[in-house]
Amino acid sequence: MPPPFAPYKYFFFALVIVAISLLPSPSLLSRSAVRLAQLKQHLYPSPAIALQKSSSAFFSANKSIATMAYEKELETALLAVQRATLLTKSVFSSHSKGTLTKSDASPVTIGDFGAQALIIASIKHVFPEDEVVGEEDADDLRANDSLRDLVWDLVSAAKLEDRAAEDRIGGPIKSKDAMLEAIDNGNSAGGRKGRIWALDPIDGTKGFLRGGQYAVCLALLVDGVPTVGVLGCPNLPIDDKATLDSSISADADSGEGKGVLFSAVKGEGASSRPLSKAGLQEPKKISMKPLTDISQATFCESVEAGHSSHGDQASIALKLGITKASVRMDSQAKYASIARGAGDLYLRLPVSKSYEEKIWDHAAGVVIVQEAGGEVTDAHGKPLDFGIGRTLKENKGVIAAPKAVFPKVIEVVKEVLGAKQ
Ligand code: AMP
Ligand code: MG
Repeated sequence: MPPPFAPYKYFFFALVIVAISLLPSPSLLSRSAVRLAQLKQHLYPSPAIALQKSSSAFFSANKSIATMAYEKELETALLAVQRATLLTKSVFSSHSKGTLTKSDASPVTIGDFGAQALIIASIKHVFPEDEVVGEEDADDLRANDSLRDLVWDLVSAAKLEDRAAEDRIGGPIKSKDAMLEAIDNGNSAGGRKGRIWALDPIDGTKGFLRGGQYAVCLALLVDGVPTVGVLGCPNLPIDDKATLDSSISADADSGEGKGVLFSAVKGEGASSRPLSKAGLQEPKKISMKPLTDISQATFCESVEAGHSSHGDQASIALKLGITKASVRMDSQAKYASIARGAGDLYLRLPVSKSYEEKIWDHAAGVVIVQEAGGEVTDAHGKPLDFGIGRTLKENKGVIAAPKAVFPKVIEVVKEVLGAKQ
């Protein structure tokens, strides 16, 4: 017997056919994705469009615009550090640097105040809600009219030659009062929650005064984690492959072939680009040197014996079989130099039990080294905790090395520290 006629079956079949025909085609889906990316660009025009000189510069060493995280933060930090670094260069090459001695006996110059004012003004222009932990405050400038006027002259003269770039970070600071307010906006207590920038306007001030290396350092911490980092190093060679030896700190004057901006965004890699007086230059990816034989390593340490233990560092190098002399260099230029593969290790063993490392001395360098393939911990192998305030009070010392050799380095560091107890 033939099966009974069942019209509902045909109705169901027709429904499936209609549904399939209504599904968007793959090309339609991808067109929608492109349209979304275009809409995003429209709402926040890409720096590649806004800065005439740097058209492809901003993104070519990074991921595509549709996927790049923290693009606006990175661009703001790069332009802000670039402008502030120009200011510091004008002080570096001048005889009078307007130096004061702070209550902790460390030096500060008109360059430190000027760079802090410019960078915080830039951040607050683009991200008014963000907090900043800055090394300096404006107390000395409020108490000293002629010092304040010197800083104001510097700040007023520091402009990026690219008008669009200058506008993106808010243009010139409007008044002396606004300058003092910007400096004092670096007063965040730090912490575990939210977005906090860590700023060292001139790291390695002693090197700056000596004519050595120094760096303008800015990092964004997100919930206590270094997430975006930028280092302006006017006295390092542009060439990532240039040989690194002790001559790097002697007469380090910025000149032909010198001046670099390093940057990294967590999960996006690290890059370097030449410093410019205008917009952003073309970036290049950087990575740490693949190091198979640790005895061939070049290790970096502070110039100042009061900042890290040269003796302990020499013992560690000896145990690792390293025969090359250390490269002594001021500032986070050490992090930058190992991240680009010019050096390999950065050893910073504590000289004092009570000293607490400052977050602004490490945050930018740490994310740049991590993104270049390195690992950074304290001298006991503990991760650096940037979420507990203005200092790394739960950590002692700093060790940075390529991931592959890190376990060996930390084992030897522990041996050397253990032998002292
Ligand atoms: P560096 O140029 O690497 O020697 O580091 C410069 C930084 O060392 C300065 O910005 C200071 O904040 C920091 N510093 C000052 N005193 C000490 C100390 N006793 N131990 C470690 N770092 C210090
Ligand atoms: Mg510093």
